[in-house]
Amino acid sequence: MLFLAYFSFLLSFLSIFLNISHPPGMRGKSISYYEDPSNAILIGLIQLLIGVFLYYYAKKTKKKELEEKISICPKCQDSFEYDRLDEGRCKNCQDEKTIDIKEYYKNN
Ligand SMILES: [Zn+2]
Repeated sequence: MLFLAYFSFLLSFLSIFLNISHPPGMRGKSISYYEDPSNAILIGLIQLLIGVFLYYYAKKTKKKELEEKISICPKCQDSFEYDRLDEGRCKNCQDEKTIDIKEYYKNN
């Protein structure tokens, strides 16, 4: 998802600053340019908006995933909400890295 956002930013940049409507290799065509430069700006802005939307959507989805993630410490078997931990380290056993609870039960 984040990749698509960056791709939209790239297309937007090509449209607005370089007047390119299709980068080489896209849809099997060679590089093509907008015939009307005002179309380039308009389409570039739309691509920019799509990029921004995709970027925030991707970030939000990622954040939600982390909030819902439960991890477990392999040492003391205690489980935690992942986003309350400091870089995923167990609160009881200082430097012990906790692991995703789904992964944990898959392997044990
Ligand atoms: Zn622990």
